[in-house]
Amino acid sequence: SRQEQYRILRDTDLRDYLAKLPAVATKLGGWPTDWSISEVGDGNLNLVFIVKGAERGIAVKQALPYVRLVGESWPLPLSRSHYEHLALVHQARLAPGLVPAVLHHNEALALIAMELLEPHIIMRKGLVAGLRYPRFVDDITTFLARTLFFSSDLAVPAARKKEGIAAFSGNHALCKITEDLIFTEPYFPAEQNRWTSPWLDATAASFREDLDLHVAVSRLKLKFMASPEALIHGDLHTGSIMVTETETKVIDPEFAFYGPMGFDLGAIIANLIMSYLASPGHERSAGERRSFEAWVLDTIEAVWTEFSRKFVELWRTEAHGDAYPAPLFAGEAGAARLEAERQAYLDRLFQDTVAFAAAKIIRRILGLAHNIDFELIEDPKLRAVCEARSLHLARMMMLDTPSFRTIGAVTQAVRELR
Ligand code: ADP
Ligand code: MG
Ligand code: MG
Ligand code: MG
Repeated sequence: SRQEQYRILRDTDLRDYLAKLPAVATKLGGWPTDWSISEVGDGNLNLVFIVKGAERGIAVKQALPYVRLVGESWPLPLSRSHYEHLALVHQARLAPGLVPAVLHHNEALALIAMELLEPHIIMRKGLVAGLRYPRFVDDITTFLARTLFFSSDLAVPAARKKEGIAAFSGNHALCKITEDLIFTEPYFPAEQNRWTSPWLDATAASFREDLDLHVAVSRLKLKFMASPEALIHGDLHTGSIMVTETETKVIDPEFAFYGPMGFDLGAIIANLIMSYLASPGHERSAGERRSFEAWVLDTIEAVWTEFSRKFVELWRTEAHGDAYPAPLFAGEAGAARLEAERQAYLDRLFQDTVAFAAAKIIRRILGLAHNIDFELIEDPKLRAVCEARSLHLARMMMLDTPSFRTIGAVTQAVRELR
């Protein structure tokens, strides 16, 4: 694509830019002057435009040189768009059909034009409304198993793996956001923290004083920083998933880097747990959401079960990496021992998943960025009850991770809170 000076593209400027891209203009169809353009970004960082022509629509995402939520006082590199594009292309190859197709990318403008997801909605919004998604488990576990396995040392030779790490190592400013906002700030009086006050004041204070918790979250932070296991999405909450009854699409991989697999898995599990624990706050009549809530718990269990089944199956059939070298596991005894080690590997990954899930829950209740699962509960006292249950569970999951040996132990603990 052409080299252009970075500028924020809006309205006429965006229209003129797109009109000069033959593939995009043809896709949109009709006269550029008739295209409708609206900004729909509801995320914390970037601009997203929906452009509709006579034939069809597209989505255009442009990075700003700062954090959208905060403004110019919080600069953030435009290069995140480069990494988002790289990750989208990689994910499209490994998990076909589960991410929006890229139509155009301009590095200098930090701009990505992609497939418009319509009538998809942000999954988190659907969950708040009590909607169920029958495709979700199969699609998200395929996405997770394939993107994580095929970028790991189990699948990829050592040299290529290290080139992959290098290709994403410049995305450190986005990693730093995670390191600060998730693993640090909720545990000290950082200025941008907030919580449902005054009800959670005492709990928030106890999290700031609990040295056992500070050790646990610091170990997790170190694991996040120093474990390039696979190319992870890095921001895989239910606000980064768009859904219909029949389709699931993962969006917004600008935080992608080589990190611990449990971070992506933990994000999914944490957001489902929060959906369940926030659900009583969205009831208009007692018990109205009971079948939705049962579905969420089943989904939590199925996400782990299906992910581990798919991951182990890939390991049995597609292990072309340098980890677990075949000559060390020759013969029947070797094969049996390797199979047992696959289970042990998954058990360790499950422990990471539980602990990272805990960190993801805590940051949404005591840190800067909250989610609508809780925020849309109008009665602050009821919201605080839902949040306090979530914090109680997350604290146990982080401090006593080994007591959650199976996903059933997690859902059982979730159930017991209600
Ligand atoms: P941010 O990085 O700022 O969080 P996102 O990539 O999450 O930006 O996009 C913000 C919002 O824009 C999404 O919540 C969704 O509503 C909308 N959006 C993003 N990509 C698409 C797409 N391909 N099709 C339709 N809507 C999209
Ligand atoms: Mg987003
Ligand atoms: Mg967001
Ligand atoms: Mg984003």
